[in-house]
Amino acid sequence: MNKTPQNIPGHLASFIGKVALKDQLIEHDLNPSELINQQYIESMPSMTKGLFKIICNRCGNQTRSLFGKIDCKRCDRTHSYCKKCIQMGRVLECTPLYKWIGPQFTYPPQMNACNWDGTLTNAQQQAANRATQSVIEHSNLLIWGVCGAGKTEMLFPAITKAIELGERICLATPRSDVVRELTPRFQEVFPNISLQSLYAGSENVFEGAQLTLSTTHQLIHYYHTFDTMIIDEVDAFPYHGDDMLPFVTHRSVKKKSTTIYLTATPRKEDVTDMRNGKLPFVFVPRRYHGVDLPVPTFQLSFNLQSSLQIGKLPPSFYQWLQQRTKKERQLLIFVPTISLAEKILSHTQEVLVKEKAALIEERVSFVHAKDDTRKEKVHKFREKQLDVLITTAILERGVTFPAIDVAIIDAGHEVFDEAALVQIAGRAGRSKHDPFGEVVFFHDGKSRAMVQAKKSIIKMNKMK
Ligand SMILES: [Zn+2]
Repeated sequence: MNKTPQNIPGHLASFIGKVALKDQLIEHDLNPSELINQQYIESMPSMTKGLFKIICNRCGNQTRSLFGKIDCKRCDRTHSYCKKCIQMGRVLECTPLYKWIGPQFTYPPQMNACNWDGTLTNAQQQAANRATQSVIEHSNLLIWGVCGAGKTEMLFPAITKAIELGERICLATPRSDVVRELTPRFQEVFPNISLQSLYAGSENVFEGAQLTLSTTHQLIHYYHTFDTMIIDEVDAFPYHGDDMLPFVTHRSVKKKSTTIYLTATPRKEDVTDMRNGKLPFVFVPRRYHGVDLPVPTFQLSFNLQSSLQIGKLPPSFYQWLQQRTKKERQLLIFVPTISLAEKILSHTQEVLVKEKAALIEERVSFVHAKDDTRKEKVHKFREKQLDVLITTAILERGVTFPAIDVAIIDAGHEVFDEAALVQIAGRAGRSKHDPFGEVVFFHDGKSRAMVQAKKSIIKMNKMK
């Protein structure tokens, strides 16, 4: 359990290790000047403005078009504000931000905190040892493990070590589905460690928890507070291509800290850094069960677009359905857009039942990022209460379903880049009881990404 620093009134707990706006402090009946006098917080400018540059110091936004102007009533002048992080309260040029500089939560060292009794493969063990060493040395490491390498299990020893050292730990991942999937697992593996899960709308918020599972976005609230930071899917949208996320992640860790990056599909820049020795890394080339990654088959469907336009899947899909080797496997169907999924849903339900891929039409469902029942549907699929789940790219990574076949409809569509295709293929065959899922890309013209994805899967299968 955590210990609130001594002599700090309990109502301050929710600001320990955080960055806050003035309004947020006032909402809690706190007086910023008093807290400054008590040396709990320090003010910092909310924006840095140069001749050509403007930076929001809460989220790191530097894009000019993402700043607005507003007439400020307090100072009777026009001021800039940041549009990018406005959902978390408005950052206004004339109002400072406050960062916590007082004592942090402390955690008594705990030995043998890990309750996991599984065994790591040699390759996993090697990666786990390196990660543990990084925690001891407070150095950084990238773990590059193929989809299904068992990255979560590899982290347990390093997290156990961090707990032994009384550290505060965070695992950040781009998707809230992954936070929800990992929460019960971590609770089981570390039963005596306080844990919170952070994503927009999450309920399991426990200030000062020793272990935080979080979407990367939520790190915006933290300031120099974590000793060990694990960043899952570092190559993935939205960490990649968004300056805000590296900025807030970097700020959320203590000066002396460990960062462990995880990826199955490293971006070119990372590969270059690894080759040049700039980024220490360890590679886990095999899935934990030792069976190769499933190599996707390409299924050319000339009438793909015309079929989809009338709300049907192409005939080649139905032929494949009839020939599937293991019909009892669940089926995950990826589509490029929400509108397409909506269009094909009812016909697809009918056919899947006819071809015995689903028991009844209600056991075929569709999920997308803006779906309010997304959480429930993913849970139902995992619990095998659904036979088929049609999804947009939101389920491309992180989530694990034990025994599924995977189909992509219109795999040549631009939303499916190489990394996405490798990740999607990697959803199949993850269970040691059924390590051979089928992966089929239906297309009406191979894209470069498809060809590259297949190549890179074959290449990874050869690395041992
Ligand atoms: Zn901002």
